[in-house]
Amino acid sequence: MKNDIIEKAEQVIANTYKRPPIVIEKGMGCRVWDTKGKSYLDFVAGVAVCSLGHTHPRVVKAMCRQADILFHVSNLYYTVPQVKLAEWLVENSFADKVFFCNSGAEANEAAIKLARKYFNGNSKEERFRIISMERSFHGRTMATLSATGQNKVKKGYDPVLEGFDFIPFNDVKALADKIDNSTCAVLLEPIQGEGGLWCPDPGYLKEVRRLCDEAGALLVFDEIQTGIGRTGKLFAYQHFGVEPDIMTLAKALGNGLPIGAMLAKEHVASAFVHGSHASTFGGTPIITSAALEVLKVLSEEKVVDHCERVGEYFRQRLMWLKSKHSSIVDVRGMGLMLGIELDVEGEPVVNECLDRGFLVNCIQGKVIRFIPPLIISKQEIDALVSCLDDIL
Ligand SMILES: *Cc1c(COP(=O)(O)O)cnc(C)c1O
Repeated sequence: MKNDIIEKAEQVIANTYKRPPIVIEKGMGCRVWDTKGKSYLDFVAGVAVCSLGHTHPRVVKAMCRQADILFHVSNLYYTVPQVKLAEWLVENSFADKVFFCNSGAEANEAAIKLARKYFNGNSKEERFRIISMERSFHGRTMATLSATGQNKVKKGYDPVLEGFDFIPFNDVKALADKIDNSTCAVLLEPIQGEGGLWCPDPGYLKEVRRLCDEAGALLVFDEIQTGIGRTGKLFAYQHFGVEPDIMTLAKALGNGLPIGAMLAKEHVASAFVHGSHASTFGGTPIITSAALEVLKVLSEEKVVDHCERVGEYFRQRLMWLKSKHSSIVDVRGMGLMLGIELDVEGEPVVNECLDRGFLVNCIQGKVIRFIPPLIISKQEIDALVSCLDDIL
């Protein structure tokens, strides 16, 4: 199955990714094609990124329109698309201010820096510790891997950044025991993604909010994967009646163009002053034009409502699969961020799906994750479910 491009890749691309032997060449909607012309229904969506599907015509048009006008001038100057995108995000979330960057890890870097800066000079005690969760994932830069609760991400990079404490997710008592006046923030994903698709227990996030308020610590939600409609609401925090002080976004915000954002309440955001933080590319016109169009399509075409509906349908189909196959031990997730945990290794199942024309991905060895474009149809879900039924 090897072809020239794959052989060349082995020679010239850093060896950080294990990939199946296909080369993907084009995409449209929920489908991609490889260089041999074989098509695949895409339940990975570039890791929860291409929520409107591949090459969405309105996003393509918005980007091309801006390409004719201005790509980039840096943040030494004001630009219109950046301001419009920030305005949309502020109007549709808890937040008052936005800082733009280029990836999820960078958004979390900004959140970590802001949380520390907020207490620097603003508190009698030295407050820089951040409480994070076991099994969490926050990125691959030095600060964000230090914040990540998975050893495999940190292995080989010692010494990691100081000041992170880890407790189990969904454990209120562990948080109550750990949080004190050395804690500047509690950082968590409302639904843990890479760590295995773990949802918060009823009432858990409200308790986390309460404990943060009592201790005077900030609450930071990493919504890089859960945000922008993925869970059936625009932001996952809206399911739980809890607002954070800081929230990070990335993945689906640009539908495939690289963008990250760190959002915060005014009193917190104001700890950043001229020169506190910066990014050359962050919020550049060509990307923010496309991202604004992504958000317009999302709301005008009621994509989030669709996600909630078909997500529930998908979940029921997976529960049906579980009732039929004892190899499925759990069905987890919300909206179109779903997974099945198997009692065997997931990789052979992923490879079988690939052969049959479906992209799915495996996390934590045994969890098959489904994070398709939010525009996926019931028929397409049925096609995958019957493929899985057959394989299992
Ligand atoms: C993907 C992800 C990140 C890292 O995003 P990058 O763009 O790869 O840096 C951080 N947090 C969560 C929850 C993610 O899912």
